[in-house]
Amino acid sequence: MSEEKPSNFIRDIIDEELAAGKHSQIVTRFPPEPSGYLHIGHASAIQISHSIKEDYKGRFHLRFDDTNPAKEEDEYVQSIKRDIQWLGADWGEHLYYASSYFDQLYEWAVYLIKEGKAYVDDLPPDEMREYRGSLTEPGKNSPWRERPVEENLELLEKMKAGEFGEGEKVLRAKIDMSHPNLNMRDPVMYRILHAHHHRTGDKWKIYPSYDYAHGQSDAIEGITHSLCTLEFEAHRPLYNWFVENLPVPHEPRQIEFARLNVEYVITSKRKLLQLVNEGHVDGWDDPRMPTVSGFRRRGYTPEAINEFCHRAGVAKRERVNEYALLEYCLRQDLEGRALRRMAVLDPLKVVIENFPTDDVEWYEGPNHPANPEMGTRKVPLTREIYIEREDFLEDPPKKFFRLGPGREVRLRYACYITCTEIVKDEEGNIVELKATFDPDSRGGSTPDGRKVKGTIHWVSAKENIPLEARLYEQLFTEIVPEQVEEGHDFIENINPDSKTIVKAFGEPELRNAKLGDPIQFERKGYFAIDPDSTEDQPVFNRSVGLRDSWGKKKGQ
Ligand code: ATP
Ligand code: MG
Repeated sequence: MSEEKPSNFIRDIIDEELAAGKHSQIVTRFPPEPSGYLHIGHASAIQISHSIKEDYKGRFHLRFDDTNPAKEEDEYVQSIKRDIQWLGADWGEHLYYASSYFDQLYEWAVYLIKEGKAYVDDLPPDEMREYRGSLTEPGKNSPWRERPVEENLELLEKMKAGEFGEGEKVLRAKIDMSHPNLNMRDPVMYRILHAHHHRTGDKWKIYPSYDYAHGQSDAIEGITHSLCTLEFEAHRPLYNWFVENLPVPHEPRQIEFARLNVEYVITSKRKLLQLVNEGHVDGWDDPRMPTVSGFRRRGYTPEAINEFCHRAGVAKRERVNEYALLEYCLRQDLEGRALRRMAVLDPLKVVIENFPTDDVEWYEGPNHPANPEMGTRKVPLTREIYIEREDFLEDPPKKFFRLGPGREVRLRYACYITCTEIVKDEEGNIVELKATFDPDSRGGSTPDGRKVKGTIHWVSAKENIPLEARLYEQLFTEIVPEQVEEGHDFIENINPDSKTIVKAFGEPELRNAKLGDPIQFERKGYFAIDPDSTEDQPVFNRSVGLRDSWGKKKGQ
């Protein structure tokens, strides 16, 4: 994994400010809205802010941006905390909620009204939109814009007390209805919502807007650098306006970076929620989901995800990262530490006719070929075994170094077998092979030293563990799944073959596999045990295949 500290434009800014003596400590935050599970883009945002805390010996705050009670749930709060911890980011004592600042935010709203910089507006939502103007046309002042201060104070009080219905009134900042930036045209600070809040209960009937709450929360917490994605760039003037016009204790600075995009991956919470709600996936932690919990269940490690985010870097302009890089990072991490095991995913029975019927011969295989300290395990050979169907060809080409009629292969860790006969059913499908083994080849070589080019994996047909293997492909067929033609929906881009379940057989040692153990099924990929596993039937998710297209291409 990369050790060198990243250098990027955000750190350049921080370095300059530190050199100018602007800060005694750098404070960053991650401000998730608890309205969904974290995804790979959030992992990147967390890393960007958290790594700055680490490298500058600063502080990192986790703040739930819980200003919209309608969408929020405690389940999300819990999952977000769990995922951040799993990623290795640490907020220490600095866990906050924007909702803790509701009283302060209200006081500051009153302050702005008294300063003549905020007013209660009665325009219905559609008229408000009309009055706002457009990019090419200035907006118009609301007829309620010049309300006397006293009246505004009284109305805000009544809004808060629940005396008006939803949508009847809003509180707006009084800035400039002809400002070229639409966000500055008297933005909404409070709206009426008669909703139950997961932390403040029924206390509030009005809730602050993101734009009003966010910068002030940063200021209250003493955040020095409020790092967010580019969609907030046009909101920065407003962010600054509030900070400048309110008696806030600190002046945070907002800096934007490009969202992390990955091929075949969606990182819009709304769309991920749709996938979950409409049952296109089996929940937020479905191993095909780009959520942190989905990756974890799939068998990704925090190290792999962090390495990916590190390599993707911090950019000023958006680009799409290759999915192959993500897989490369996982393989890099698992290569050196995943336990080697044998499992046959598409079994074809082989009867070794000269092997005594009830005998079991135990062979020893290393748990890892390059790490002897990881120990060994025992693998049983019996008269009947399973091999992978694709490891046999009835009419094999010359370079096919696996099994064919009359051909000899090495069974990994065990001995040589030669195929002597093909057994077919009435339709001509191969149902079984017959073979003989060379007793002198036990241990993997023969006294005559003859060369056997192919080595295949196998599992005893008698001494094994039946298991379910879940094999995954991309959830979407398109590199940019959200890019759809007019009148179409991204749901149409779902790959119908993204999940295949196979009944497989594994070597007995797999009985000891635990949740979170990285395992390589030899020649078949990296797998992780799934929480759906039962005593009788373990379930394994394929985390990633073994073939590395990215590393090869880049010469890594
Ligand atoms: P939505 O999809 O509804 O816009 P969101 O993904 O922005 O939601 P938040 O909870 O508001 O969800 O995000 C928390 C932080 O994560 C924000 O500061 C946001 O800028 C950042 N973030 C969100 N998506 C990405 C992404 N793809 N790459 C990098 N950072 C992201
Ligand atoms: Mg957002």
